[in-house]
Amino acid sequence: MLDVSMYIDGEWKWRSAKGDNTRNIFNPATGEVIATAAEGNEDDAQAAITAARKAFDSGPWPDMGVDKRAEYLFKIADNMEEKQQALTQLETMNNGKTFPEASYDVSDAAACFRYYGELIKKSSDQTIDVPDPMQSIITHEPIGVCGLIVPWNFPLLISAWKLAPALAAGNTVILKPAEITPLTAIKLFEIFDAVGLPNGVANLVLGAGDTVGNKLATDHEVDKISFTGGTETGRHIMRAAAGNIKDVSLELGGKSPNIIFADADFETAVDYALYGTFFGAGQVCTAGSRILVEESIHDLFIERLVNRAKNIKVKPGNQTGAEMGPLVSEDHFNNVMSYIEAGQQEGATLRCGGKRLLSPDLENGFFVEPTIFTDVKEDMKIVQEEIFGPVAVVQTFKDEQEAIRLANGTDYGLAGSVFTTDDKKAMRVIKKVRAGITWINAYHAAYNEAPWGGYKQSGIGRGLGTYGLEEFQEVKQINVNLQVEPVNWFSE
Ligand code: NDP
Repeated sequence: MLDVSMYIDGEWKWRSAKGDNTRNIFNPATGEVIATAAEGNEDDAQAAITAARKAFDSGPWPDMGVDKRAEYLFKIADNMEEKQQALTQLETMNNGKTFPEASYDVSDAAACFRYYGELIKKSSDQTIDVPDPMQSIITHEPIGVCGLIVPWNFPLLISAWKLAPALAAGNTVILKPAEITPLTAIKLFEIFDAVGLPNGVANLVLGAGDTVGNKLATDHEVDKISFTGGTETGRHIMRAAAGNIKDVSLELGGKSPNIIFADADFETAVDYALYGTFFGAGQVCTAGSRILVEESIHDLFIERLVNRAKNIKVKPGNQTGAEMGPLVSEDHFNNVMSYIEAGQQEGATLRCGGKRLLSPDLENGFFVEPTIFTDVKEDMKIVQEEIFGPVAVVQTFKDEQEAIRLANGTDYGLAGSVFTTDDKKAMRVIKKVRAGITWINAYHAAYNEAPWGGYKQSGIGRGLGTYGLEEFQEVKQINVNLQVEPVNWFSE
């Protein structure tokens, strides 16, 4: 059993600033308590903000040469890779995802630190041509104290996606993991401690969103909030951040369309439709949870899709051959089940799944069968709202125009894909899909180098790539007069 502490101003804090509340951390595959975490509150968030403010205003980090900052990031990446196996096991134990999924997250998170270490060394400052005798320089500076609020579906990876660019740019940070999945974040902060990040540069506060998270979003000493999570919480954070006009980046929910044309490579399209929907038990913001199939292949496609979905091996993530793990918590499980019920009540046809898995080895975990609905209507709750579980809805379309209209028919705009062997059609259609992350004849591929984020109510700003670094930078113009003499605008 682990005891999990906070990390504030370079010190581990088991007791919170007021009281010593703790929270049990569960394994969602077994329902067992696997750790006890310190439960932070507003006072702990305040202590972390004060430490981060001091480290930014008077510490070495923002002014440190980029080569030196990059060295820290490379050491963090090396250290993560050395601990690959332990981090993978911990992520599976706390989040429920399968070993291959967790292992990928760890490698990708380490690669993210390495990528931003390299990127920050390449100066993006510019000199602009302006009339003599002036010279204009465009330079990039850190924003200041950044609050990083992350969800439970990719606890380590999304933390890395925010921490690596924020630290590379010279900011100081406060990370707030989701209260139910703090374990790999703690290990990451042990690595920060081991590589000797200066005190106050990176702080970790545990606790609930409506106390600790809200404090970060409202506090005037915090200059930026980078948030990933649900759209409703994103809306709340925007309002909370208005007090000091904080810089806000939001990566929110999705209900992403996966458009399958009749001329697609059939087996590839079926395979990716499964992968798009059921990877991570569907607890993925970009999940291709709306499968749009051209009418002429609909029945054949559904038959094959349902057969393959029924074969998905749903097991605890640490078991050999597990292809899909449990949902992350009992609350979330109840939420997903309520959507499945709503779908049936609204009159959609349940083609497979829909039930909790209750065999003796699974009954204490939150396992749900891969679930597919057909005969859905556009205005149904299960078509419009993010379910965030292993539930796909299949819509049909007659032609390109209808496919595009349906694809864009929700408030979300995070991701989307098109399957066809007609290259021109693929480009024509994908350009019309109002989403920030798209694929042609593929799904879910993500790269540290490529911008990540959504249109519409799926968010503001972009993580990853050069765009992800810019989200943590201010841009300044420095105009230099090369001929020092009075301007004489006003007469003597
Ligand atoms: P939330 O949006 O509530 O949680 C994400 C993070 O925000 C967590 O760290 C949470 O803290 C924190 N948070 C919650 N409330 C506040 C607040 N008032 N101020 C600041 N921070 C806050 O997601 P849920 O876990 O409740 O999931 C709800 C739905 O959101 C899911 O069903 C799914 O549809 C969507 N979602 C989308 C994700 C994505 O990747 N886009 C990721 C997760 C969820 P804590 O949990 O500790 O209270």
